[in-house]
Amino acid sequence: MSILVVIINKFHFCCKHSHLQLKMLEKKGNFNMERVIQEFDEVTRNASIVQRETLKMILEENGDTEYLQGLGLGGRTDIESFRACVPLVTHHDLEPYIQRIVDGDTAPILTGKPVTSISLSSGTTQGKPKYLVFNEELVHNTMQIYRVSYAFRNREFPIENGKALQFIYGSKQFKTNGGLTATTATTNVYRSHQFKSTMLDIQSQCTSPDEVIFGSDFQQSLYCHLLCGLLYADQVQFVSATFAHSLVVAFQSFEKDWEELCRDIKTGVLSSRITNPSIRNAVSAILRPDPELADSIYRKCEGLSNWYGVIPELWTNAKYVYGIMTGSMEHYTRKLGHYAGRLPLVCAEYGSSEGWIAANVDPLTPPDSANFVVLPDIGFFEFIPLRGSDNCALSEPIGLTEVQVGEEYEIIMTTFAGLYRYRLGDVVRVEGFYNSTPRLKFICRGNLILSINIDKNTEKDLQLAVDEATKLLSAEKKLDLLDFTSHADMASDPGHYVIFWELNTDAKDEVLQNCCDCMDRTFIDAGYVGSRKIGTIGPLELRVVERGTFRKVLYHYLSRGTSVGQFKTPRCVGPSNKVVLEILNGHVIKRFSSMAYD
Ligand code: AMP
Repeated sequence: MSILVVIINKFHFCCKHSHLQLKMLEKKGNFNMERVIQEFDEVTRNASIVQRETLKMILEENGDTEYLQGLGLGGRTDIESFRACVPLVTHHDLEPYIQRIVDGDTAPILTGKPVTSISLSSGTTQGKPKYLVFNEELVHNTMQIYRVSYAFRNREFPIENGKALQFIYGSKQFKTNGGLTATTATTNVYRSHQFKSTMLDIQSQCTSPDEVIFGSDFQQSLYCHLLCGLLYADQVQFVSATFAHSLVVAFQSFEKDWEELCRDIKTGVLSSRITNPSIRNAVSAILRPDPELADSIYRKCEGLSNWYGVIPELWTNAKYVYGIMTGSMEHYTRKLGHYAGRLPLVCAEYGSSEGWIAANVDPLTPPDSANFVVLPDIGFFEFIPLRGSDNCALSEPIGLTEVQVGEEYEIIMTTFAGLYRYRLGDVVRVEGFYNSTPRLKFICRGNLILSINIDKNTEKDLQLAVDEATKLLSAEKKLDLLDFTSHADMASDPGHYVIFWELNTDAKDEVLQNCCDCMDRTFIDAGYVGSRKIGTIGPLELRVVERGTFRKVLYHYLSRGTSVGQFKTPRCVGPSNKVVLEILNGHVIKRFSSMAYD
């Protein structure tokens, strides 16, 4: 208990004096793996007390805000009063408050301290980015979770002095009407003064200069990430991106551009495709003619079979490939595993633009069974128990340490950045406990995605249907599903589900027809099956799109300010998302209509 008090005091100190403490750490430039793990163990052992303390700290810091004052909390900081006064909310409920902050109202509306910047969440699921408050506490939380997961990773895969080939991208910043800087949460983190020092401490310094990370043209940044990664290949200890999707995109580009990259290294002259002056100057400054390196890369690439194991072949000191590989990213792990060859795929943390939730403390666990341990001092968490099949709420939210193994829940967050009892929209399953804090498996975004009438299918159901159908593809040599999405087509009568697929190569019509039938059969929701049988929902349609179509979807989101690092292919495209529907429908090369219920 005495150690706990020390931790709570330290944490209190961190929140109030995070700048000062991080400055001290920067000076020492050290990282004590054992100490980080020991502190994590202590905090998770006392999760219930730490949660109470964390809520108290959040409410002490923000109790005078207009939002909490208006709810009659009256300065109380205990869990019971908090629950009695503060309602559960969604982003929609908070929009008017956030909009006032965005428009320049400097009163303490949601947070006690003034808001200095705004984050834009990727918004890939909703079709438009969400505005959120960003502050120093979120930066501090980010460094905290980076350090915790690195400590556990490093215990299994110790890395020496080195760097990381990180495919990270800052996105454009703009000023809101009220003069606040707005950009994605990841960019806010990359631009923070603590990011660089933490990356140095945890041997994760990016091989590319800042000009590449913050370059305004994604294609040029990607090319230069690859080039810098090759120039510093012997120092690279691991290869990473925020999401697995960015890693797959990077190595798909490598497959196309490797000869040009070799040419640049051989001649020491950067390709003319890099036209952005600041990227060009920064990368040219580190590029020298190195025919030996260029020839060795060329030979290695030529020797690969279908790019299997390209990562360990070229980055021989890399110990693992790292990024978020769970949830909607699981689809990309097959392709990523192909590029990674013998290297393990290590899953990164669980969090969101709203705030961090949990760390991966079992880096050896593969993506399909990875779970995440909630950090009880990173926010205050509640869980709405859900009924399995349709994600219906069963009862009032319960506390972090009250959840049951095997049950599914929707997460509610209360953060240091102005969110109180906020429904994140994610569904998780409790897989077990680490000391007294739960291990969560990410299940899906909670919102219902495919529905025509009484049928209800979620992202998880869609994933299951696609997984089942792609088993039929794997029988065909070299045939791979690159990406997919769905749409509930109500324009036809009756309405029906449309699944868009992009394949790496041509497939036989017979195989695709079987895949289409298989998906239709795999949606086993009673409402769907019943409606299909009586014809109130039409046959599921598989629309195969041209190669490169999902790239076009990605570019569309990038043009609207989403960063590549945060991009997640929307698994369902709503009728209002006209541009994306047009991109998809404009590139359909084959259509199949299910015969599963004929
Ligand atoms: P954003 O705020 O745009 O960065 O997206 C956050 C969302 O990404 C979360 O609410 C989750 O749905 C998803 N996400 C983040 N981390 C993970 C993870 N480790 N596994 C699965 N999904 C994740």
